[in-house]
Amino acid sequence: LSKKYEEVLQIVEEQNIEFIRFEFLDYAGVTRGRTIRGNRLKEVMEKGINFSTAIMSFDIFEEMIANPSYGSGDGDFFAVPDPSTFAIIPHRKNTARMLCDLVDINGDPWIGCPRNALKRLLNELESTLGGTLYMAYEQEAYLLKEEDGKRIPADNSHCFSTDGIDIQEEFVQSFVHALEEMGVKTEQISSEYGPGQLEVNLKYAPALKATDDQVTFMHMFKQLARKQGLIGTLMPKPFKDLPGSGLHVHISLYNEAGENLFKDVTDQRGLDLSEEAYYFIGGLLKHAGSLIAIGAPSFNSYKRMQPGSWAPAHICYGAGNRSVLVRIPEKRRERRFEFRGADGTCNPYLLTTCLLAAGIDGIRNKIDPGEPIKEDVSHFNEIQMLENGVLWGPRTLDEALHSLAKDTILANTIGRDIWEEFIKIKQTEWNKYCQHVSDWELELFSDRF
Ligand code: GLU
Ligand code: MG
Ligand code: MG
Repeated sequence: LSKKYEEVLQIVEEQNIEFIRFEFLDYAGVTRGRTIRGNRLKEVMEKGINFSTAIMSFDIFEEMIANPSYGSGDGDFFAVPDPSTFAIIPHRKNTARMLCDLVDINGDPWIGCPRNALKRLLNELESTLGGTLYMAYEQEAYLLKEEDGKRIPADNSHCFSTDGIDIQEEFVQSFVHALEEMGVKTEQISSEYGPGQLEVNLKYAPALKATDDQVTFMHMFKQLARKQGLIGTLMPKPFKDLPGSGLHVHISLYNEAGENLFKDVTDQRGLDLSEEAYYFIGGLLKHAGSLIAIGAPSFNSYKRMQPGSWAPAHICYGAGNRSVLVRIPEKRRERRFEFRGADGTCNPYLLTTCLLAAGIDGIRNKIDPGEPIKEDVSHFNEIQMLENGVLWGPRTLDEALHSLAKDTILANTIGRDIWEEFIKIKQTEWNKYCQHVSDWELELFSDRF
């Protein structure tokens, strides 16, 4: 057993950890796994625990389980915990979790493992880039309560109001403490635009760690809300008339000497960005449709990305306004950029992998992103869009999936198997959504026609 494993075993024994969750995310971003008894850890830590490969491919309706022929003969993979992700779950003193990598029956990295797709890409590209990619995930999320069987915001807080944080102080503090105890550093907490909506910013970290941290955020937000009798949700657009919850990802590149490789004060376009940074952005814009499919993979996601909502509906970049897909923060801040086209229904490993692969494609092929947009693009008419080279982003999940289905670069990066399964799952969800007739529709149409 390697040293890290030894350390984990020691903690488990000394602190009498009775239960250990082996966790991984399926393609649709839901965490799956099993809990083992602490005294079995030594026996299963290196080999992992086996699962049917079929469990990676659940859609939100989980109907496939009703189909007896589905996937039952597809074989197994093993979930092997990464000891560096070991953390005791603060609200359950006797329980710990570890995030897992998935290996095949021979113990080799399994082609269907999203976390491994990211590791594979990072190995390959950090040597090419001459630096380390850092990311910081910014998740917005609502706290809801149930009243008369209806889910509504848990409070009436206002945007950036101190009261908003104070009302939820118990939740917010337990959440931040839990993250920090689990090794996730937080930077700031905001009461977001919507009532009951919060944002907690995680500190930037190397790409894999930042992505693991986002996963921890997703788990703890829901678990701790539930502990207080609330419903914590990352759902992109829970209410028609209230702001949606986005997941923004900040990306930067530093070399070993700590120099920011995305910074260049001689930048002719005035944003203090280096040539590499522009090419990276060029890659993000070129792959925008498929990145949105991966990052915003739910039919609900597209209700969030409406023009004029601070969520991006257009494919463009710029500084000084929040309607763009890729935003460059003000020059007073460190040089980096923010991808705004994702939400909390994604699998963060797939998102990070695809964002980086798109950026690298931009750098390798010197893709110029064109001029930055200064105006709020949500006010652009079709002519202004044409003049400024701004395109609509995908308006529906279906449209986004069509982009992804044509994106061979991303397909090869995440692996054909994952890519095909992902599209299949999401197409199933879309088809089912299209068949749904809502009460609102019934009322509207049956009244008039
Ligand atoms: N809630 C907005 C979104 O869905 C973002 C607001 C902000 O810029 O913080 O992306
Ligand atoms: Mg925000
Ligand atoms: Mg942001």
